[in-house]
Amino acid sequence: MRDITHISSVDEDSSGQKIRMAGWIQDVRNLGGIAFIIMREREGVFQVTAIKKNDPELFEKIVNVPRESVTTVDGTVQENEEVINGFELIAESFELISEAGTPLPLGVIDKVGADLDTRLNNRFLDLRKEKVLALFKLRDIMERAMRGFFTGNGFLEVHTPKIVAAGAEGGATLFPLKYFDSEAYLAQSPQLYKQILMSAGFERVYEIAPAYRAEASDTVRHIAEFISVDAEMSFIESSEDVMDLCERLVYHVLKAIEEEGSPSLELWPVDLVLPKLPLRRVTHEECVGYLSGLGKGTDPEGGMDTEGEKLVGKWIQEEHGEDFYFITEFPTSVVGKTFYAMRKADDPELTGYFDLGCRGLEIVSGGQREHRYDVLTKQMEENDLDFEEFEFYLKAFRYGMPPHGGFGLGAERLLQTVLDIKNIRECVLFPRDRARLVP
Ligand code: ATP
Ligand code: MG
Repeated sequence: MRDITHISSVDEDSSGQKIRMAGWIQDVRNLGGIAFIIMREREGVFQVTAIKKNDPELFEKIVNVPRESVTTVDGTVQENEEVINGFELIAESFELISEAGTPLPLGVIDKVGADLDTRLNNRFLDLRKEKVLALFKLRDIMERAMRGFFTGNGFLEVHTPKIVAAGAEGGATLFPLKYFDSEAYLAQSPQLYKQILMSAGFERVYEIAPAYRAEASDTVRHIAEFISVDAEMSFIESSEDVMDLCERLVYHVLKAIEEEGSPSLELWPVDLVLPKLPLRRVTHEECVGYLSGLGKGTDPEGGMDTEGEKLVGKWIQEEHGEDFYFITEFPTSVVGKTFYAMRKADDPELTGYFDLGCRGLEIVSGGQREHRYDVLTKQMEENDLDFEEFEFYLKAFRYGMPPHGGFGLGAERLLQTVLDIKNIRECVLFPRDRARLVP
């Protein structure tokens, strides 16, 4: 490894010391006798100062390096309160390691923002932007906080197959793939496998992994490959236990972002208000009732459409000043294809299924699952499911299955809503959608 000093290692004691720093040349301001070179590394930007009379040859070379080239600079640290980070590196020698071509297909520090497609087509350059990197640092904090939360609550991290023979969420959004001499699919959700693990006695499992959905429509909240944060636990009494876990997870993540998010959060100035637990619960019936009063936002099956979800989010915000809420007791007819949802004992038209929403965006779906073999198979029959296809799953219910429930949380959706980002694609390094498979 080259011996390279990062910004965070430079302090008062470094003044007068000779060090080597490395990075991308972001900008050069040549004032004739002196030049300020703004360089960027993963911790941020720092200033290199070149003084012509010290070394005219070095000066000429460094001011002419094309922007975004990778260089190392050897020099002496000098304290300077007026400079970003409080120090500058007075250049003594430098090495041009990799010269950037010109012109750049995408400006890294341009004030005028390029459109999202251009940015994504040149994602390697787009990711060089401080603000974009900051987003992925916040995402890292979020995922680490989740792992910490699950570990702290006795959950085992697992990995279930992503190449599967049957889909959990119905046929329309399955991606088929050739699998040797037969057909397989990319997993839409770890649902069925998480449940099998409950039969195995793992009791509490979680998985943070990709899920694949061939979403037909092009929206700002759907991608073909997203990271699903899934949890499943046994011996619950009702869906309320699952909601309790879910809201504590979300709270824990928000708190971690608030506490550890600096300085990245400075580039994402969002009001992060920690919600009060327990979160507000509104029933699905109340939401549909509200929307019927407005005369919009419902669909023919008795559910809510996208506009309806947004209106409910707005309603809760205006009425109570709250961002996060649960929509509870989804009707059996709306949960529909979700054959594994447990229905209410006193009202089979309702399930305990819930969504967690934030300002009108669905972040989580979950609830108590049906663990009784006879009831489950009856619900499968109602949904015209092929028993043979699901035998690998059903088998696990015949030899001892505890009551259980869980949820699936869209990682990008959570980040999108926390940072108030319009298009979910911004939250993914290399997003996949109907129109995009490259880069
Ligand atoms: P939606 O109604 O928004 O299409 P869904 O109800 O079909 O979502 P679920 O099956 O409930 O999705 O999946 C659990 C969670 O996974 C969702 O609440 C959401 O946060 C996330 N999710 C689902 N599909 C996508 C997708 N295509 N892109 C990004 N996140 C998704
Ligand atoms: Mg859902």
